[in-house]
Amino acid sequence: MPRQYLNPRNIQFILHEVLEISSLSNFAYYQDHSKETFDMVLEAAKQLADKHLLPYLTEMDRKPPQYENGEIHVHPKIKELMKLYGEGGWISASSTYEEGGQQLPLVVGNMVGFIFGAANYSASIFPFLTTGAANLIRNFGSEELKKQYIPKMYEGQWQGTMALTEPQAGSSLSDVQTTATPTEKDYYLVKGQKVFISAGDHTGLDNVVHLMLARIKDAPAGVKGISLFVVPKKRLENGQLVSNDVTTAGMFHKMGYKGAPIAHLIMGEKEECRAYLVGEPHKGLSYMFQMMNEARLGVGMSAVSIASAAYYASLEYANERPQGRPLSSKNPALPQVNIIEHPDVRRMLLFQKAVIEGSFALLAQCSLYADLERVSEGEDKEKYFLLLDLLTPIAKSYPSEMSVLTTSAAIQCLGGYGYLEDYAPEQFFRDTRIHPIHEGTTGIQGLDLLGRKITMHNGKALTLLIDEMRKTIVSVPHWSDLRIRKHEFAEAIQHLHAVTIHLTDLIKENKPEVFLADATLYLDYFSIVTIAWIWLTQGLVAEKALLNTELSEDDKNFYQGKILTVHYFFEYELPKIQALHHRLVSNDRLTINMKSEYLN
Ligand SMILES: Cc1cc2nc3c(=O)[nH]c(=O)nc-3n(C[C@H](O)[C@H](O)[C@H](O)COP(=O)(O)OP(=O)(O)OC[C@H]3O[C@@H](n4cnc5c(N)ncnc54)[C@H](O)[C@@H]3O)c2cc1C
Repeated sequence: MPRQYLNPRNIQFILHEVLEISSLSNFAYYQDHSKETFDMVLEAAKQLADKHLLPYLTEMDRKPPQYENGEIHVHPKIKELMKLYGEGGWISASSTYEEGGQQLPLVVGNMVGFIFGAANYSASIFPFLTTGAANLIRNFGSEELKKQYIPKMYEGQWQGTMALTEPQAGSSLSDVQTTATPTEKDYYLVKGQKVFISAGDHTGLDNVVHLMLARIKDAPAGVKGISLFVVPKKRLENGQLVSNDVTTAGMFHKMGYKGAPIAHLIMGEKEECRAYLVGEPHKGLSYMFQMMNEARLGVGMSAVSIASAAYYASLEYANERPQGRPLSSKNPALPQVNIIEHPDVRRMLLFQKAVIEGSFALLAQCSLYADLERVSEGEDKEKYFLLLDLLTPIAKSYPSEMSVLTTSAAIQCLGGYGYLEDYAPEQFFRDTRIHPIHEGTTGIQGLDLLGRKITMHNGKALTLLIDEMRKTIVSVPHWSDLRIRKHEFAEAIQHLHAVTIHLTDLIKENKPEVFLADATLYLDYFSIVTIAWIWLTQGLVAEKALLNTELSEDDKNFYQGKILTVHYFFEYELPKIQALHHRLVSNDRLTINMKSEYLN
């Protein structure tokens, strides 16, 4: 088990020095909050994570849930944890005072998610899913549904889930076939099956509340015919919980994040599965997407959290493992040096640091946009909404994809020991592999970015983002060591803009297939430029902080580390856009023309 799994100093830096989140308290909605209250929340989260999550990290991996007699038995700690999450107000933290919450900004809520995820990702998803499901009822459900379900969910007594996926409807949710037949009562009768439902059943809690997509009988085909329902595992009848005809047909065995089960559910085998409509008929997917956008930031944050734990495990090891001698001295009579002295090991560490702290800062910034959108009006509201909407596919997929590479780099730092179960990085590598898959695969995020977000409102979101990026460029002082980076970054934006124009022109030329064929590569390109921006911003704040002559040695090292990592990102990561550029401006139809038979 790693001794350190995150850097509290970096959380402070991003929240208070870069984003200055205490200014949120200027808005009436957040007026009771301050730097002190935010820090208290984060400190309490860290204490809970240290005491109740981290100690079970390995055990939950080695003793995964068991499926027996139609039930999924999870680690006994989950029951206690959900009680702690409920009593501590962690599940309801973002909701309003009237709803029993703390009106905590998402930017702080997502930090809490980061802390819990870094300590033990499997154990962190139970409350995360419950918050998401309860918030859907809160935002779109009837008063009756709110009264019946939300308190139990916020208290951690009932589990919440998102039940979308079916065997034939994964990425393509328009193909959902689960049907809901209206009755003369206040409920529908549901029939169908769902697969891969996280925490979809477990004996840790009394009940499971599924927020489920289904098609009302005779509804139009496609996305416009999908509605959202509350489908409880057990429903209340005369004050008693009775079975609601939701059968757990099995549990899937996964490669990682084994402490949390994913269930195969069958509804309506006895024609008695009652479902309660949330909001209006046929609007289910749009409701679900509102929550999914928040969940996508959550997935990005979970990926960074696991990557962070792997990074600190590998850093600790690199500082303690003697092996080999410096490049400049091969004298075998000299003692070995710790591997952190080897430039290649430092490169692997810097790679992790650059990706993790860059992704973390982007996610914090996106979360802040969500908070600002909530409390702003008029043009500002639209601006934050558009920026968040545009950046969400990046904030989900870049950390997710890159965490697979960074956790792999963490393993590599440990050499042969990294491949062993005795060391933590191999678990982190397995645990994080889910992130490019769930909540919309990377391929789907690419299509979302290029096919929808770039073109929406006549490209207004992209214009706004480029404006924000240019503001950073203008703010680089003439004395800054980052001046050279400013020019490189300005050039990268120009290239991104040119590639975007090139690709969107293909729509006018009526070549939609060519336009979207390499959408994932466009997503990669956009992500790298975005993270370069985020790093430049961090570097400028660090440079300014270093002007203070009374800094402690630790602070000086921290800020110097930030500046060096800006240079690392610009030297090692940003140049990758050149190869992507080459590919994206080529109009050949290589992947389109490739015949399936050629792949045999
Ligand atoms: C551990 C785990 C937890 C999960 N938790 C939940 C949950 O709680 N609730 C829930 O509802 N679901 C959950 N899922 C399901 C998950 O969201 C889906 O697996 C995911 O959306 C992909 O769907 P699929 O598996 O059917 O793959 P497919 O959709 O078949 O995709 C296979 C591949 O084809 C690509 N592809 C598909 N369509 C296109 C396209 N149009 N264009 C380009 N490429 C395409 C994909 O990018 C992917 O690479 C979970 C899955 C796992 C493994």
